[in-house]
Amino acid sequence: MSLDINTLFLVTIYIEAMLGLLLLFAWVQNPAIAAVAWWGAAHLLLPLSIVLFGALGAMPDLIAIELSNAILFTAFATTWNGARVFDGRPISYVGLFGGAVLWLLVCRIPVVAQSMEIRLLISSFIVTGYTWATAYEFWRGRNEPLVSRWPAVFMFFTYGALFLLRTPLGSALPWIRTKPDVDNVWLTVLSFEALLFTIAIAFILLAMAKERVELLHKRAALVDSLTGIANRRAFLEGGVTMARRLEANPRPVAILLIDLDHFKSINDSFGHAIGDRVLQVFATMARTKICKDDLIGRLGGEEFAIALYDADGEKAMQIAETIRTTFAAKAAEVDGHGVDATCSIGVSVSEDGLFDMSVMLGEADQALYTAKERGRNCCELAPREIVLRLDSSTPSLRIDDTKANIAAKSAA
Ligand code: GH3
Ligand code: MG
Ligand code: MG
Repeated sequence: MSLDINTLFLVTIYIEAMLGLLLLFAWVQNPAIAAVAWWGAAHLLLPLSIVLFGALGAMPDLIAIELSNAILFTAFATTWNGARVFDGRPISYVGLFGGAVLWLLVCRIPVVAQSMEIRLLISSFIVTGYTWATAYEFWRGRNEPLVSRWPAVFMFFTYGALFLLRTPLGSALPWIRTKPDVDNVWLTVLSFEALLFTIAIAFILLAMAKERVELLHKRAALVDSLTGIANRRAFLEGGVTMARRLEANPRPVAILLIDLDHFKSINDSFGHAIGDRVLQVFATMARTKICKDDLIGRLGGEEFAIALYDADGEKAMQIAETIRTTFAAKAAEVDGHGVDATCSIGVSVSEDGLFDMSVMLGEADQALYTAKERGRNCCELAPREIVLRLDSSTPSLRIDDTKANIAAKSAA
């Protein structure tokens, strides 16, 4: 092994400083993910600590050993706090400086000050504590579907384990317990590995931040920002998934098309902001009335749609009625204004699981039109289509007898 520890330290200083700047640059480009700034700062603290440690012998131990290690622990604590910030947890100031303060205190104890072994043991425990705490933070946020979260958990856990190996605990292991000069080689190998780890970790942290930004963009493109429910595009995409599911396992399915009544006059009388609140009241209430297999979306303006999985006509009409009456009760007064908002609902049902979203939306729209004509604040079930399916290889034949068609034919 010809890689001497001084060269390695110098390389580490350059690389860590570069990674720190790279992370800070990434943060400046996208300040929305504040954790990246924390991780950049952590990577910049590392070379500072190594520079001070490199002055061992030339500078008092208070600086070369005690202060350099205190900075090292603060670097790991910064990474850990970055992980907390990344997942929306509060910054822990006690944790941020706790390791450094603890270290400076125990160094005052004579037995610790005199024994390098004990100091190495304590410092390794502190670093392992912080890296495992970081792994834990990332693991805690596992509900967010970020693929790069898992290598991050693994890397921080392994990194902590590596630090434990550097301790006398490590030298107690039979394959490590060797002569002093071999110990030196072991330190070089471990330091080299630690460097590779921090490089890999910096890339994984960047990958996590990038994946988070992409996820936020993807969500923003699919979620209606006012109500927090799916937008038209997401609702139609959800319909495709539901259609696939129904193909494999045919169940009755229903579409509810909901339009708020006289919404223009609500805006005119109470202002646009109250109109917005009414839309939010509707969405918040309606999402509590459906199951996890169902879909809800805002198709646009004051028009909403719900796809009910495994709901026949009776069940669909029951849910529609519940939504209608609950909304009328909840929207009687909004933010202190007696808006008395109501909605009309058109319902279309396919009992045999034949699901064509655009056809069913069309039927529900006709029923909604009828509901409006009947005076609003009511639910209307679309007349059934008679669907003849000759066999599985033949396209289904629809005999369309919706009210609109009948009306059109009789008018012709
Ligand atoms: P009807 O009972 O026949 O449905 O009457 P309506 O007034 O509800 O229907 P119309 O289509 O005439 O008006 C819909 C109104 O919804 C007009 C538009 O300004 C308002 N609107 C659309 N999007 C929003 C929104 O995001 N916020 C608010 N506050 N109003 C909106
Ligand atoms: Mg309306
Ligand atoms: Mg409308």
